[in-house]
Amino acid sequence: MEYIKSKIRDVYDFPAKGVIFKDLTTVFKDAKALHQIGVELADLYRDKGVTKVVGIESRGFIGGSIAAFELNAGFVPVRKPGKLPADTLKASYDKEYGKDVIEIHRDAITEDDVVVIHDDVLATGGTMTAAYNLVKSMNPKKIYINFIIELSALGGRKNLPADADVTSLIVC
Ligand code: AMP
Repeated sequence: MEYIKSKIRDVYDFPAKGVIFKDLTTVFKDAKALHQIGVELADLYRDKGVTKVVGIESRGFIGGSIAAFELNAGFVPVRKPGKLPADTLKASYDKEYGKDVIEIHRDAITEDDVVVIHDDVLATGGTMTAAYNLVKSMNPKKIYINFIIELSALGGRKNLPADADVTSLIVC
């Protein structure tokens, strides 16, 4: 984990003044770190019978895909509005300024699925809660929530659904 941590780049004042952005492109471009991320994420869930990994656009697609590959699970994208081609379910959620919407294909998850929802960073938890509600509405057997990095100072974990099973690879 120390190796992965050493590859995270803090970018100050991006995308707005006062934000310290956790840039994972410097992790993903490093072959050893990328491989370790896939293995570490999958190790959390190997005995859980996971059938689908849901990745949140866009940085959640990277860790989500490699975890799905390692787990022999399928991959499902949660996307910004208007990007998914077939029939979708939508959830709106509050952002710092105004509202945002995410979508998932209506037939993406079944009641037989065991699902991991993955995103790169937990900040306030709004995005993940919206994704969780979408997945939950399709009644899978079990939902796990996963992040590469949890920003503990922002307290996002307490905003996540109380019944959620949450794991972060790195808490900082
Ligand atoms: P939130 O809904 O507040 O938990 O924000 C989550 C989304 O915003 C995630 O998809 C992250 O990719 C991104 N995000 C928020 N804050 C940061 C940050 N400081 N560094 C990197 N990504 C962030």
